Amino acid sequence: MERALVIIKPDGMEKGIVGKVIACFEGVGLRVSGIKMARATKAVVGRHYIADRTWLMSVGKNAKAADAKRGIVTKETEMQIGMRIRSYLMNELTRRPVVAIVFEGENANSVARKMAGATEPRSADKNTVRGMYSTDTYQLADKEKRAIRNIVHVSDSPKSANREIKVWFRSSEIFSE
Ligand code: GDP
Ligand code: MG
Repeated sequence: MERALVIIKPDGMEKGIVGKVIACFEGVGLRVSGIKMARATKAVVGRHYIADRTWLMSVGKNAKAADAKRGIVTKETEMQIGMRIRSYLMNELTRRPVVAIVFEGENANSVARKMAGATEPRSADKNTVRGMYSTDTYQLADKEKRAIRNIVHVSDSPKSANREIKVWFRSSEIFSE
């Protein structure tokens, strides 16, 4: 059975919607097999958002595309943008405790990402966690020099899920069916 990692980020904790967020994922058939509250350090966030070239470049590429839509041309390279956002994430994820959850189910990663919705809440479908519970934008987050507040992190593949789960959980803390 495939596993996915979901983290309820500090903005989700602030809004007091832990139960609602978990219910969304359970509602699409995912089952909780590990759950904990944790106060992350920057080192832990750095291991979670590992400085992987492909991911940094994809973050930079998406940011440039969002800028281009608003008619903004940036001098920063995709890699530089990726590194800047990684450092925003280290601040954002350590602002207050988070809840980390391991979900299991068929195609858990694609199912959980569909339920989470697009990275930018303002353009996320209204029936997704990000679309329902946040309205943040690339523009506002960049202006305030912080990560987009989009309620949840969701792993993007079984491979990244298995790596990320090890950052947050010991194997004895996960209970499979
Ligand atoms: P996700 O998989 O949908 O969470 O998106 P990514 O892996 O591309 O980015 C990780 C996180 O970084 C996102 O959830 C946002 O919190 C933040 N983020 C991504 N792109 C940007 C951006 O262009 N600007 C800002 N300020 N934050 C961003
Ligand atoms: Mg991601």
